[in-house]
Amino acid sequence: MPTLSQQLLAKEAKYGASNYKPLDVMLCRGEGVWVWDLDGKRYLDCLSAYSAVNQGHCHPRILAALTEQASRLTLTSRAFHNDQLGLFYEELCTLTRSTRALPMNSGAEAVETALKVARKWAYQVKGVPADQAEIIVCDGNFHGRTLSVVSFSTDEPSRHGFGPFTSGFRIIPYGDADALEAAITRNTAAFLVEPIQGEAGVIIPPAGYLARARALCTEHDVLLILDEIQTGLGRTGALLAEEHEGIEADLTLIGKALSGGFYPVSAVLSHDAAMGVLKPGEHGSTFGGNPLACAVSRMALKVLVEEGMIENSARMGRRLQDGLAAIQTGVVREVRGRGLMIAIELDPAAGGARRFCEHLRDQGILCKETHTNTLRVTPPLVIDTDTVDWALDRFSRVLSAA
Ligand SMILES: *Cc1c(COP(=O)(O)O)cnc(C)c1O
Repeated sequence: MPTLSQQLLAKEAKYGASNYKPLDVMLCRGEGVWVWDLDGKRYLDCLSAYSAVNQGHCHPRILAALTEQASRLTLTSRAFHNDQLGLFYEELCTLTRSTRALPMNSGAEAVETALKVARKWAYQVKGVPADQAEIIVCDGNFHGRTLSVVSFSTDEPSRHGFGPFTSGFRIIPYGDADALEAAITRNTAAFLVEPIQGEAGVIIPPAGYLARARALCTEHDVLLILDEIQTGLGRTGALLAEEHEGIEADLTLIGKALSGGFYPVSAVLSHDAAMGVLKPGEHGSTFGGNPLACAVSRMALKVLVEEGMIENSARMGRRLQDGLAAIQTGVVREVRGRGLMIAIELDPAAGGARRFCEHLRDQGILCKETHTNTLRVTPPLVIDTDTVDWALDRFSRVLSAA
């Protein structure tokens, strides 16, 4: 008799599209930094759904906001006003020092929205000739999975077989401000960049890169679009990663942890000049800005700030990073990160990161490899000292056994 877990796996294999290759673990419950499988085994979640559950699994205050709002009003569409949207706008803009916000659902939709805003701004405000707008992006980027977004991906599996692609994008090396300066033309509408590249393997650009990019964009009348869908909302030890270089983007994209993992909510944050180009009927989403999303996000932001999760991310991130860097086993090439956005770069001779994910799972830690040799370590921001030390002990065991 196959176990329940095996039966469910078989159903996924039989009926599901096979566009993912998950680690062999069947989860059914989560609380804070912990998740449990069907056999009742507990794991430390060191992926946090790619930073969507920064606030920890099933945060009780967000859960309460969700159930309260769900029993009252969930969806009106934007054809009518709802009593949550204005409050969400105000709290979000105040917290992020933005002047306007546009709510969407998935991260990719926020990216698409920003690209549309940037193009319209280029034609209406900057005076770029019709259909000539260019958007500069970086090698190794990850901005989502829609056709226009994969049109400028440099990851072959993300693109292969999906053409023809959307034009109007230029790809430059990441972390190279000179390359940005050289790529800007009169028709450049925007520079879209991740403050730290997440899916590429927690790639941190040289110090001063974002500040220089900000200056170049200002000088050449180009919008700086920061994709903070993964780096934002406390992950790097600051509310937004842009704060590490003391800059402000023209358009900032957030998503993932904006709902604490309860619900897909994303947003484009901006100043008036850029967002002002959109008029009624020119862009929208049935679910974008719905009252349930707004109520959930309001609480997700509130607990992030009130419960000190951003400061905790900085503190625990330092502890975890220092602890990982101290594990001397020969298979670790580098430990890098900012706040609780951390990666362990393994020696290519060690046989690939996937193998380590499996050993870590056996030790009660869930991690995800990115590319072949990088282990990403990004626990929820509510992790405490004891749990960091517990995790370090397990990492040490697994990396030493190799
Ligand atoms: C996850 C992610 C996205 C896409 O978000 P989805 O909600 O999966 O569409 C975009 N940009 C970055 C940097 C991301 O990490």
